[in-house]
Amino acid sequence: MPERSLRLERAVAALDGIDALLVTNLVNVRYLTGYTGTNGIVVVSAGRAVLITDFRYADSVEPLRTLLDVVILERDIAGMTVEAIAEYAPGCTRIGFEGALPFALADRLRGLAPAGVELVLADGIIERLRLVKSVTEIAASRRAADILEVVYTDIANGTLVGRTEADVAWQIERTIREAGFPALSFESIVAAGPNGARPHADPGPRPIERGELVTVDIGARGESGYCSDCTRTFAAGGAPDPAAAADYQLVLDAQLAGLGAVRPGALGGACDATAREVIDEAGCGALFGHGLGHGTGLDIHEAPTLRKGSEDVLEPGMIVTVEPGVYRPGQWGIRIEDQVVVTEAGHEILTGFTKDLIETAG
Ligand code: ZN
Ligand code: ZN
Repeated sequence: MPERSLRLERAVAALDGIDALLVTNLVNVRYLTGYTGTNGIVVVSAGRAVLITDFRYADSVEPLRTLLDVVILERDIAGMTVEAIAEYAPGCTRIGFEGALPFALADRLRGLAPAGVELVLADGIIERLRLVKSVTEIAASRRAADILEVVYTDIANGTLVGRTEADVAWQIERTIREAGFPALSFESIVAAGPNGARPHADPGPRPIERGELVTVDIGARGESGYCSDCTRTFAAGGAPDPAAAADYQLVLDAQLAGLGAVRPGALGGACDATAREVIDEAGCGALFGHGLGHGTGLDIHEAPTLRKGSEDVLEPGMIVTVEPGVYRPGQWGIRIEDQVVVTEAGHEILTGFTKDLIETAG
């Protein structure tokens, strides 16, 4: 059976306490149907699934009709959605909706729903289906991760000193797009010197100075939508401050410890604790203020989460990141991130570029 038909079947099987689900999170819509437009709702029920979209996509959704029915909007979305529910989910009285449903639309749907039909919040159903990746999804993620190795090799062999963060970020984007990837997973982070102490700094116009650490957090998004995510920290044009080099080793030790905890059955919170303990023991706990990692897939950040207290249980086929950091305000920041697939035996790293601290020639 084609993968998307299976997904729709699994979605129906996952309806718990509701008769039908309005899927409005566009990433979930894409997961179930392959639809990539900006205006789509899928009604999932024991009957045939239906996609509601508008005229702009009438042509591009034609191939989807083998998978589900398609309704092209002729008037207001709320009225046509209520009609579609009546037609495709007849007799259904408890209709679930996702947290992504805009409140105003939820309000109008409730106003239009016939007597006896109840709209109830049913969040996370499709997200849970997305947790464990298929062979195809893993292969797509792997392709998106492979290009990052090319990017890092270019950076390692090139010049950083005197260039702006923005210029390096542009080179990264060009390499990824010229390799045929339609998009980045997220805006690249190139953060040098004190900017590195801000985990999500925007690449700016300040020239990179010799000896500064440069954190490069990047990702590519493939044709099918799957994201890669990797961070490496480089030393620009020579040896960094010895204290920065010591922090680098600390982050690397924490990263390797965190990776070692990633295996089936492990709790997200336990993976985080394993890495965090290394940084805590060095007295740097306050300098690592974010979680250890996150799932990736069609979204760059999705379940499971690897952070303090997370009770998400890792299973083979999940793809997660392991990315501890140490951030010294006003001085430097270091983050080292790998993207890995959880396997029966433990995990497999998708982002294979070296984690030795590379000092670029210039
Ligand atoms: Zn990242
Ligand atoms: Zn990440």
